Amino acid sequence: MRPPNITWVFGVNSNIGLCDREEHVYAPLDADARELAQSLYEAGYIKVEYIRKEWERWAWPGGYPLYYVCTDGGVLCSKCVNDNIKMTSDPEAERDWRVVGVDINYENNELFCDHCGERCESAYCEPDDADAPASTGHDTGEDSGPAEDLCGY
Ligand SMILES: [Zn+2]
Repeated sequence: MRPPNITWVFGVNSNIGLCDREEHVYAPLDADARELAQSLYEAGYIKVEYIRKEWERWAWPGGYPLYYVCTDGGVLCSKCVNDNIKMTSDPEAERDWRVVGVDINYENNELFCDHCGERCESAYCEPDDADAPASTGHDTGEDSGPAEDLCGY
């Protein structure tokens, strides 16, 4: 499990391009917004404005699904952790909202979000994958087949 860095989103403008755009800075939750903005000024932007924070939904590189762990040991899916960004990005939040770690869900198909109750997506063990090879010609008249056993479903 990694410490939970968060994406700080700044609106930036350079004197080269005329349009405003967003710059994403991956930094600790309790980083100093002014220091992050300063580093963008030093990178050449002339206008830097803090907009919001966002938790990553996918690990990079790889694109694996992420889940978040709170001080009380509870699990939050990447949707809930962002839907409740005010609480989850507050270093002083209550125990059950204070994020202490983030990890990739590789193949746990029984990992559930403690807030919405939905199963957290996994990289390798999705039930949709288990559906595919179900009909491989078992025409023996048996009532129960072994095909449903993939990934424990
Ligand atoms: Zn959730």
